[in-house]
Amino acid sequence: MALIDIFSRRETRILVFIAIVACGIAAVKSFFSLDLLLESPLLKAMVLKALRFFLSLTFSAGPQDFDSDLPATGAYDFIVVGAGAAGCVVASRLSETSASVLLLEEGLSATLESAIPKLSFIQPVSENVRWIKSFSRENTLLGVKNQTIPMIAARVMGGGTTINFGLYVRGAKLDYDNWSALGNPGWDHASLLPYFKKSEDFIGTITEHTDEYHGKGGPLTVDTTDDVIKMEEIIRPVAAELGLDIIDPNGPSNIGFAPVHNTVKKGVRVSSSEAFLKPVLNRKNLHILPGARVDKILFNQEKEAVGVEYTFRGKTYKVEARKEVIISAGTLHTPKLLMLSGIGPRKQLEELGIPVVAEVPGVGQNLDSHQLFALNFKIKPGLSPTFMDLMNPFHIASYLREQTGFYSLPTTPLMHTYLNLGGGDPRWPDVDIYMTPLVGVGLPYYTNEIKSQIVGPLLNEPVLNVGVMLCRPKSKGYVAITSADPADFPFINHNFYDHPDDVKLHVKGVKELNRIMSSEGMKKILAPQPDLTLKACAHLGNKTDGYWECYARHMALPNEHFCCTAKMAPLTDPMGVVSPRLSVRGVSGLRVVDASVMPEVVSTNPMATVYVIAEKASDIIKQDWSLENTKIASK
Ligand SMILES: Cc1cc2nc3c(=O)[nH]c(=O)nc-3n(C[C@H](O)[C@H](O)[C@H](O)COP(=O)(O)OP(=O)(O)OC[C@H]3O[C@@H](n4cnc5c(N)ncnc54)[C@H](O)[C@@H]3O)c2cc1C
Repeated sequence: MALIDIFSRRETRILVFIAIVACGIAAVKSFFSLDLLLESPLLKAMVLKALRFFLSLTFSAGPQDFDSDLPATGAYDFIVVGAGAAGCVVASRLSETSASVLLLEEGLSATLESAIPKLSFIQPVSENVRWIKSFSRENTLLGVKNQTIPMIAARVMGGGTTINFGLYVRGAKLDYDNWSALGNPGWDHASLLPYFKKSEDFIGTITEHTDEYHGKGGPLTVDTTDDVIKMEEIIRPVAAELGLDIIDPNGPSNIGFAPVHNTVKKGVRVSSSEAFLKPVLNRKNLHILPGARVDKILFNQEKEAVGVEYTFRGKTYKVEARKEVIISAGTLHTPKLLMLSGIGPRKQLEELGIPVVAEVPGVGQNLDSHQLFALNFKIKPGLSPTFMDLMNPFHIASYLREQTGFYSLPTTPLMHTYLNLGGGDPRWPDVDIYMTPLVGVGLPYYTNEIKSQIVGPLLNEPVLNVGVMLCRPKSKGYVAITSADPADFPFINHNFYDHPDDVKLHVKGVKELNRIMSSEGMKKILAPQPDLTLKACAHLGNKTDGYWECYARHMALPNEHFCCTAKMAPLTDPMGVVSPRLSVRGVSGLRVVDASVMPEVVSTNPMATVYVIAEKASDIIKQDWSLENTKIASK
């Protein structure tokens, strides 16, 4: 009884929580960071279970529980597949009208720790994601174990926005103007700006007079964190020295240093499900069902989508769509679902015995994302978080009590540097040099040999992790299916560096990175650097172009900014999958609304763009069905 009394005291629970976190972190730290968690399911399960148990006792600002025991049957006006960045917006906006909406999501409700911005680095080891093996060209990923790289895809309410780093940065104006020029009217920057603003509730500080670019009062809170403001102070003299502007990442100009914005509100992650669904949960016409994997879209004789078949708790169900089915399953799973439903490249479908409903060769093609690699620079103490910060009881207590301080700040790049190095329109960035203060940790994916050369001398030291990211690579990959079983993962080939310009641009980017790091402003924060030469490339000379190309072929990775596998295009483009109104070719009653419809990747992190696609798509659908917003009855 006495023990129960002690345990029920909040202070005691906090202390026990601290002890558990400290043990977990010490274990992680000593075993080379996330590597061990990734490789040891037992340790991973123990750390996550312990973390969640104590959070459940001490943390009151956790995410919404959407889970339900009952399947959905019968008929709805709209069925939305996937509750990610896009799906939550679409379900929320369509249910502003009198239409009935069913939202089916394969994953479950977000886990407690996903709400804590600092712990976003732990999300990749949680059950909120699936790891899908992916490949690239022969002469790439040379420093990566088995030359295969697992891609993280969300499987949780909120999708990518529940597990990502919450960087809210819009693409460049020319990204969208280019979409429109490719034959997609209405998708230019001027047409999209009102939709960016509609989503947003901007509460941060801005570096330029760009108020008219920011929305107020939308569901999605966007803020500037204290860490970003500190980083901006460091970069200000560097920018002046190099003649670069400091710009608003969501403002009118797109070249220069851009202190980032994040989707965070009062120290808690703002995911799409928290922002767009939680406030409207009592709508009578909105039914949300997590844990439901859609296996097939159902068509009638006229090739009209009339419903879906889905698996929930091991059983198969069918549900009818009176108006439309909207697929928002993300760049990897949307093409998979289209193909499983008979829409895709004929040969691939026939080989797998899937009856062809519509031959659409572009499904799964045109996979775009950003390739990147990072260099670590040792910096003076005090600028990056340390393991001691993670274990500091005051940090933990202030977060649990008020969601303030260290744990309220996302683990994320703080500064982008958008540059045009490859030519073309000088206002359109093609390289992004992004900066993240970190503690030197083992890098998952790379071979032990690479790890020891590149990170070994910096292990547990304060570092500035500086990445070089290709904003608009010319190489394109693809997503395919290798079986007709909906439980199987898709096959991914990034095919990066297929186009020779890409690796050349990466070399230019790393040379520019070194120029930035050699500036007087940067020297003020740098400590003496250890030798981090990559031995496999040393024979090509001391930091020559040849060395950096070899380095890039060893170190560059694709990232999870993937898009474009169901691209929007006019009918004149044989590889298009959806029309500019996002209707799928060759059938009716079916749209795609998510990152896969982008015609080309945007120059930066894609989440803000996915939100804008979903906002605009919701209006398109309302227009096509003459639906007006109305007062909705409550449950
Ligand atoms: C680790 C990581 C970090 C990232 N960091 C950032 C960042 O900081 N900033 C940024 O801008 N972008 C970031 N991104 C990218 C961003 O999160 C994505 O671009 C965005 O979430 C894509 O939105 P979406 O709606 O297309 O798909 P998702 O958000 O992935 O949602 C798709 C949803 O559909 C569900 N689903 C799939 N198949 C089915 C099915 N058959 N039936 C039912 N449900 C299904 C999935 O479970 C998932 O929840 C990151 C991505 C990852 C993985």
